[in-house]
Amino acid sequence: MGKGAKGKGKGKKGKAKKGEKGGGGKLAAAVVERAAEEDELLAEHEAEAVQEIKDVANALRVGKGFVLADVDTSGTPGFTGDKVDGKAALKACEAELSDQLERLFAESTAGGKHSVLLVVQGMDTSGKGGIMRHVISVNPEGVRATAFKAPTKEELAHDFLWRIEKALPLPGQLGVFDRSQYEDVLVVRVHDLVPQEVWSKRYAQINAFERKVVAAGTTVVKVMLHISKEEQKARLMERLDRPDKYYKYNPGDVDERGRWDAYMQAYQAVLDKTSTVGAPWHVVPADRKWYARLAVQQLLLDALRGMNLQWPPADFDVEAERKRLSLS
Ligand code: AMP
Ligand code: MG
Repeated sequence: MGKGAKGKGKGKKGKAKKGEKGGGGKLAAAVVERAAEEDELLAEHEAEAVQEIKDVANALRVGKGFVLADVDTSGTPGFTGDKVDGKAALKACEAELSDQLERLFAESTAGGKHSVLLVVQGMDTSGKGGIMRHVISVNPEGVRATAFKAPTKEELAHDFLWRIEKALPLPGQLGVFDRSQYEDVLVVRVHDLVPQEVWSKRYAQINAFERKVVAAGTTVVKVMLHISKEEQKARLMERLDRPDKYYKYNPGDVDERGRWDAYMQAYQAVLDKTSTVGAPWHVVPADRKWYARLAVQQLLLDALRGMNLQWPPADFDVEAERKRLSLS
Protein backbone atom coordinates (compact mmCIF):
# COMPACT_ATOMS: atom_id res chain seq x y z
CA MET A 1 0.00 0.00 0.00
CA GLY A 2 2.76 2.40 0.93
CA LYS A 3 4.73 1.75 -2.22
CA GLY A 4 1.58 2.28 -4.25
CA ALA A 5 0.99 5.62 -2.58
CA LYS A 6 4.52 6.70 -3.34
CA GLY A 7 4.15 5.63 -6.95
CA LYS A 8 0.95 7.62 -7.29
CA GLY A 9 2.69 10.67 -5.87
CA LYS A 10 5.32 10.50 -8.57
CA GLY A 11 2.70 10.04 -11.27
CA LYS A 12 0.87 13.06 -9.99
CA LYS A 13 3.90 15.29 -10.41
CA GLY A 14 4.39 14.06 -13.97
CA LYS A 15 0.79 14.83 -14.87
CA ALA A 16 1.00 18.30 -13.38
CA LYS A 17 3.82 19.14 -15.75
CA LYS A 18 1.87 17.99 -18.78
CA GLY A 19 -1.10 20.03 -17.49
CA GLU A 20 0.99 23.16 -17.42
CA LYS A 21 1.95 22.71 -21.04
CA GLY A 22 -1.63 22.26 -22.15
CA GLY A 23 -2.77 25.20 -19.97
CA GLY A 24 -5.27 22.98 -18.10
CA GLY A 25 -6.45 25.02 -15.11
CA LYS A 26 -8.93 22.31 -14.17
CA LEU A 27 -6.23 19.73 -14.07
CA ALA A 28 -4.13 21.96 -11.82
CA ALA A 29 -7.08 22.37 -9.45
CA ALA A 30 -7.61 18.62 -9.40
CA VAL A 31 -3.96 18.12 -8.58
CA VAL A 32 -4.17 20.57 -5.67
CA GLU A 33 -7.27 18.79 -4.39
CA ARG A 34 -5.58 15.41 -4.65
CA ALA A 35 -2.59 16.76 -2.76
CA ALA A 36 -4.86 18.00 0.03
CA GLU A 37 -6.54 14.60 0.25
CA GLU A 38 -3.17 12.93 0.38
CA ASP A 39 -2.04 15.23 3.18
CA GLU A 40 -5.11 14.27 5.17
CA LEU A 41 -4.48 10.58 4.62
CA LEU A 42 -0.86 11.05 5.61
CA ALA A 43 -1.85 12.77 8.86
CA GLU A 44 -4.18 9.87 9.68
CA HIS A 45 -1.46 7.44 8.84
CA GLU A 46 1.03 9.29 11.05
CA ALA A 47 -1.20 8.84 14.07
CA GLU A 48 -1.50 5.11 13.34
CA ALA A 49 2.21 4.70 12.65
CA VAL A 50 3.11 6.11 16.08
CA GLN A 51 1.25 3.15 17.58
CA GLU A 52 3.85 0.83 16.05
CA ILE A 53 6.60 2.34 18.23
CA LYS A 54 7.32 0.05 21.17
CA ASP A 55 10.18 0.37 23.66
CA VAL A 56 13.01 1.14 21.23
CA ALA A 57 15.49 2.21 23.93
CA ASN A 58 15.18 -1.05 25.86
CA ALA A 59 15.38 -3.11 22.71
CA LEU A 60 18.65 -1.48 21.66
CA ARG A 61 20.49 -0.97 24.95
CA VAL A 62 23.78 -2.83 25.27
CA GLY A 63 24.01 -4.91 28.43
CA LYS A 64 26.35 -7.59 29.74
CA GLY A 65 27.10 -10.39 27.28
CA PHE A 66 26.08 -8.33 24.24
CA VAL A 67 27.44 -9.81 21.01
CA LEU A 68 27.66 -7.38 18.08
CA ALA A 69 28.01 -10.20 15.54
CA ASP A 70 24.59 -11.53 16.60
CA VAL A 71 22.76 -8.33 15.68
CA ASP A 72 20.58 -8.46 12.56
CA THR A 73 21.59 -5.22 10.84
CA SER A 74 18.35 -5.19 8.85
CA GLY A 75 16.13 -5.61 11.91
CA THR A 76 13.74 -3.02 13.33
CA PRO A 77 13.73 -3.72 17.10
CA GLY A 78 10.99 -1.92 18.98
CA PHE A 79 9.09 -0.99 15.83
CA THR A 80 6.39 -3.16 14.33
CA GLY A 81 5.59 -1.12 11.24
CA ASP A 82 7.08 -1.06 7.74
CA LYS A 83 9.06 1.61 5.89
CA VAL A 84 6.07 3.81 5.10
CA ASP A 85 4.93 3.58 8.73
CA GLY A 86 8.45 4.31 9.91
CA LYS A 87 8.72 7.48 7.86
CA ALA A 88 5.30 8.58 9.05
CA ALA A 89 6.20 7.87 12.69
CA LEU A 90 9.41 9.90 12.36
CA LYS A 91 7.46 12.83 10.99
CA ALA A 92 4.74 12.49 13.62
CA CYS A 93 7.28 12.72 16.46
CA GLU A 94 9.15 15.75 15.13
CA ALA A 95 6.87 18.18 16.94
CA GLU A 96 7.43 16.53 20.32
CA LEU A 97 11.19 16.41 19.83
CA SER A 98 11.17 20.08 18.94
CA ASP A 99 9.00 20.86 21.99
CA GLN A 100 11.24 18.87 24.33
CA LEU A 101 14.36 20.61 23.01
CA GLU A 102 12.71 23.99 23.50
CA ARG A 103 11.85 23.04 27.09
CA LEU A 104 15.45 22.00 27.63
CA PHE A 105 16.61 25.39 26.39
CA ALA A 106 13.92 27.27 28.34
CA GLU A 107 14.96 25.52 31.54
CA SER A 108 18.53 26.69 31.04
CA THR A 109 17.42 30.34 30.84
CA ALA A 110 16.18 29.91 34.41
CA GLY A 111 19.47 28.43 35.59
CA GLY A 112 18.82 24.79 34.65
CA LYS A 113 21.98 22.79 34.06
CA HIS A 114 20.58 19.98 31.93
CA SER A 115 21.85 19.16 28.47
CA VAL A 116 21.89 16.13 26.18
CA LEU A 117 24.82 14.68 24.29
CA LEU A 118 24.16 12.36 21.37
CA VAL A 119 27.25 10.40 20.37
CA VAL A 120 26.96 8.82 16.92
CA GLN A 121 29.47 6.23 15.79
CA GLY A 122 29.40 3.85 12.85
CA MET A 123 31.35 2.63 9.86
CA ASP A 124 31.56 4.77 6.71
CA THR A 125 28.14 5.09 4.99
CA SER A 126 26.31 3.94 8.13
CA GLY A 127 24.15 7.07 8.02
CA LYS A 128 25.73 9.41 10.57
CA GLY A 129 25.16 12.43 8.33
CA GLY A 130 21.55 11.43 7.71
CA ILE A 131 20.90 11.58 11.43
CA MET A 132 21.89 15.24 11.36
CA ARG A 133 19.75 16.01 8.31
CA HIS A 134 16.66 13.97 9.17
CA VAL A 135 16.47 13.74 12.95
CA ILE A 136 18.23 16.69 14.53
CA SER A 137 17.32 19.48 12.11
CA VAL A 138 13.99 19.93 13.90
CA ASN A 139 15.55 22.49 16.22
CA PRO A 140 18.83 23.91 14.98
CA GLU A 141 19.01 26.84 17.48
CA GLY A 142 19.65 24.72 20.53
CA VAL A 143 21.86 22.20 18.77
CA ARG A 144 25.64 22.09 18.93
CA ALA A 145 26.91 19.64 16.34
CA THR A 146 30.54 18.60 15.88
CA ALA A 147 32.02 16.24 13.29
CA PHE A 148 35.33 14.86 14.52
CA LYS A 149 37.93 14.28 11.82
CA ALA A 150 41.52 13.08 12.08
CA PRO A 151 43.06 15.29 14.79
CA THR A 152 44.91 18.45 13.79
CA LYS A 153 48.49 19.07 14.92
CA GLU A 154 47.20 21.23 17.73
CA GLU A 155 44.72 18.58 18.85
CA LEU A 156 47.41 15.90 18.74
CA ALA A 157 49.54 18.01 21.04
CA HIS A 158 46.85 17.66 23.73
CA ASP A 159 45.24 14.73 25.49
CA PHE A 160 42.70 12.97 23.24
CA LEU A 161 39.79 14.27 25.33
CA TRP A 162 40.82 17.91 24.97
CA ARG A 163 38.92 18.55 21.74
CA ILE A 164 35.98 16.51 23.01
CA GLU A 165 35.59 18.54 26.19
CA LYS A 166 35.61 21.77 24.19
CA ALA A 167 32.71 20.52 22.08
CA LEU A 168 30.40 19.46 24.93
CA PRO A 169 26.89 20.95 24.92
CA LEU A 170 26.25 23.95 27.16
CA PRO A 171 23.27 23.85 29.54
CA GLY A 172 20.06 23.80 27.49
CA GLN A 173 21.75 22.43 24.38
CA LEU A 174 21.65 19.18 22.50
CA GLY A 175 25.20 18.31 21.54
CA VAL A 176 25.71 15.92 18.66
CA PHE A 177 29.00 14.18 17.98
CA ASP A 178 29.47 12.74 14.48
CA ARG A 179 32.36 10.46 15.54
CA SER A 180 33.75 11.15 18.98
CA GLN A 181 36.22 10.18 21.70
CA TYR A 182 35.58 6.61 20.58
CA GLU A 183 37.63 7.10 17.40
CA ASP A 184 40.60 7.08 19.76
CA VAL A 185 39.91 3.41 20.53
CA LEU A 186 38.56 2.52 17.06
CA VAL A 187 40.54 3.87 14.11
CA VAL A 188 43.48 4.43 16.45
CA ARG A 189 43.40 0.80 17.62
CA VAL A 190 42.84 -0.66 14.15
CA HIS A 191 45.72 1.36 12.67
CA ASP A 192 48.08 1.19 15.66
CA LEU A 193 48.24 5.00 15.68
CA VAL A 194 49.44 4.88 19.28
CA PRO A 195 50.93 1.96 21.24
CA GLN A 196 48.52 -0.56 22.76
CA GLU A 197 49.53 0.48 26.26
CA VAL A 198 48.21 3.95 25.46
CA TRP A 199 44.92 3.09 23.76
CA SER A 200 44.10 0.26 26.16
CA LYS A 201 43.94 2.75 29.05
CA ARG A 202 41.52 4.97 27.19
CA TYR A 203 38.38 2.91 27.87
CA ALA A 204 38.67 3.65 31.59
CA GLN A 205 39.61 7.27 30.84
CA ILE A 206 36.52 7.64 28.67
CA ASN A 207 34.31 6.10 31.37
CA ALA A 208 35.70 8.48 33.99
CA PHE A 209 35.25 11.42 31.61
CA GLU A 210 31.64 10.49 30.86
CA ARG A 211 30.89 10.04 34.56
CA LYS A 212 31.96 13.66 35.07
CA VAL A 213 29.87 14.83 32.14
CA VAL A 214 26.79 13.01 33.44
CA ALA A 215 27.33 14.33 36.97
CA ALA A 216 27.37 17.87 35.55
CA GLY A 217 23.83 17.40 34.21
CA THR A 218 24.30 15.97 30.73
CA THR A 219 22.30 12.96 29.61
CA VAL A 220 24.56 10.97 27.31
CA VAL A 221 22.95 8.95 24.50
CA LYS A 222 25.48 6.73 22.73
CA VAL A 223 24.56 5.20 19.40
CA MET A 224 26.36 2.83 17.08
CA LEU A 225 24.77 2.76 13.64
CA HIS A 226 25.37 -0.84 12.64
CA ILE A 227 25.34 -1.79 8.95
CA SER A 228 26.37 -5.03 7.28
CA LYS A 229 29.45 -5.24 5.11
CA GLU A 230 27.23 -5.97 2.08
CA GLU A 231 25.08 -2.92 2.74
CA GLN A 232 28.20 -0.77 2.93
CA LYS A 233 29.30 -2.06 -0.45
CA ALA A 234 25.94 -1.18 -1.97
CA ARG A 235 26.04 2.32 -0.46
CA LEU A 236 29.59 2.96 -1.67
CA MET A 237 28.64 1.67 -5.12
CA GLU A 238 25.67 4.01 -5.20
CA ARG A 239 28.01 6.91 -4.52
CA LEU A 240 29.99 5.90 -7.60
CA ASP A 241 26.84 5.53 -9.68
CA ARG A 242 25.54 9.00 -8.89
CA PRO A 243 27.39 12.23 -9.69
CA ASP A 244 25.40 13.94 -6.92
CA LYS A 245 26.99 11.51 -4.44
CA TYR A 246 30.60 11.69 -5.64
CA TYR A 247 31.33 14.29 -2.97
CA LYS A 248 30.62 11.70 -0.30
CA TYR A 249 32.93 9.11 -1.82
CA ASN A 250 36.36 8.77 -0.33
CA PRO A 251 38.71 6.20 -1.93
CA GLY A 252 40.12 5.62 1.56
CA ASP A 253 36.76 4.14 2.60
CA VAL A 254 37.57 1.06 0.50
CA ASP A 255 40.81 0.56 2.46
CA GLU A 256 38.96 0.89 5.76
CA ARG A 257 36.41 -1.59 4.46
CA GLY A 258 39.27 -4.05 4.05
CA ARG A 259 39.73 -3.87 7.82
CA TRP A 260 36.09 -4.62 8.54
CA ASP A 261 36.73 -7.49 10.95
CA ALA A 262 39.30 -5.51 12.93
CA TYR A 263 36.80 -2.66 13.22
CA MET A 264 34.06 -5.01 14.41
CA GLN A 265 36.45 -6.34 17.07
CA ALA A 266 37.29 -2.79 18.14
CA TYR A 267 33.58 -1.92 18.31
CA GLN A 268 32.87 -5.04 20.36
CA ALA A 269 35.58 -3.96 22.82
CA VAL A 270 34.02 -0.48 23.04
CA LEU A 271 30.61 -1.99 23.79
CA ASP A 272 32.07 -4.41 26.36
CA LYS A 273 34.07 -1.78 28.21
CA THR A 274 32.13 1.48 27.92
CA SER A 275 28.43 0.62 28.05
CA THR A 276 27.96 1.92 31.59
CA VAL A 277 24.82 2.41 33.66
CA GLY A 278 25.23 6.18 33.45
CA ALA A 279 26.04 6.24 29.73
CA PRO A 280 24.95 3.03 28.01
CA TRP A 281 25.45 2.22 24.34
CA HIS A 282 22.65 1.47 21.90
CA VAL A 283 23.36 -0.56 18.80
CA VAL A 284 20.96 0.57 16.08
CA PRO A 285 20.52 -1.78 13.10
CA ALA A 286 21.10 0.63 10.23
CA ASP A 287 20.70 -1.26 6.95
CA ARG A 288 17.29 0.41 6.77
CA LYS A 289 17.93 4.12 6.96
CA TRP A 290 14.33 4.91 7.85
CA TYR A 291 14.53 2.64 10.91
CA ALA A 292 17.88 3.99 12.12
CA ARG A 293 16.58 7.56 11.95
CA LEU A 294 13.38 6.69 13.78
CA ALA A 295 15.31 4.73 16.42
CA VAL A 296 17.71 7.60 17.15
CA GLN A 297 14.78 10.01 17.34
CA GLN A 298 13.09 7.73 19.85
CA LEU A 299 16.28 7.39 21.92
CA LEU A 300 16.49 11.19 22.13
CA LEU A 301 12.81 11.48 23.02
CA ASP A 302 13.23 8.82 25.68
CA ALA A 303 16.14 10.73 27.23
CA LEU A 304 14.30 14.05 27.12
CA ARG A 305 11.05 12.66 28.52
CA GLY A 306 13.05 11.13 31.36
CA MET A 307 14.28 14.60 32.30
CA ASN A 308 10.70 15.74 32.98
CA LEU A 309 11.43 19.21 31.62
CA GLN A 310 9.11 21.98 32.78
CA TRP A 311 8.57 25.45 31.38
CA PRO A 312 10.22 27.83 33.84
CA PRO A 313 7.81 30.03 35.80
CA ALA A 314 7.83 33.76 35.09
CA ASP A 315 10.40 35.69 37.11
CA PHE A 316 8.17 38.78 36.86
CA ASP A 317 4.62 39.66 37.92
CA VAL A 318 2.53 38.47 34.95
CA GLU A 319 -0.59 40.47 35.92
CA ALA A 320 1.34 43.67 36.52
CA GLU A 321 3.08 43.24 33.18
CA ARG A 322 -0.23 42.63 31.43
CA LYS A 323 -1.56 45.94 32.79
CA ARG A 324 1.60 47.81 31.95
CA LEU A 325 1.58 46.47 28.40
CA SER A 326 -2.12 47.28 27.89
CA LEU A 327 -1.53 50.87 28.91
CA SER A 328 1.59 51.29 26.79
P1 AMP B 1 34.30 11.34 7.87
O1 AMP B 1 33.55 11.19 9.16
O2 AMP B 1 33.87 10.35 6.84
O3 AMP B 1 34.31 12.73 7.38
O4 AMP B 1 35.81 10.95 8.15
C1 AMP B 1 36.53 11.43 9.23
C2 AMP B 1 37.78 10.63 9.36
O5 AMP B 1 38.49 11.09 10.49
C3 AMP B 1 37.53 9.15 9.55
O6 AMP B 1 38.31 8.40 8.69
C4 AMP B 1 37.93 8.92 10.99
O7 AMP B 1 38.39 7.64 11.25
C5 AMP B 1 38.99 9.98 11.19
N1 AMP B 1 39.17 10.29 12.60
C6 AMP B 1 38.26 10.80 13.45
N2 AMP B 1 38.77 10.87 14.70
C7 AMP B 1 40.02 10.41 14.63
C8 AMP B 1 41.05 10.21 15.59
N3 AMP B 1 40.88 10.54 16.87
N4 AMP B 1 42.22 9.68 15.17
C9 AMP B 1 42.39 9.37 13.88
N5 AMP B 1 41.46 9.51 12.92
C10 AMP B 1 40.29 10.02 13.29
MG1 MG C 1 33.46 9.28 5.17
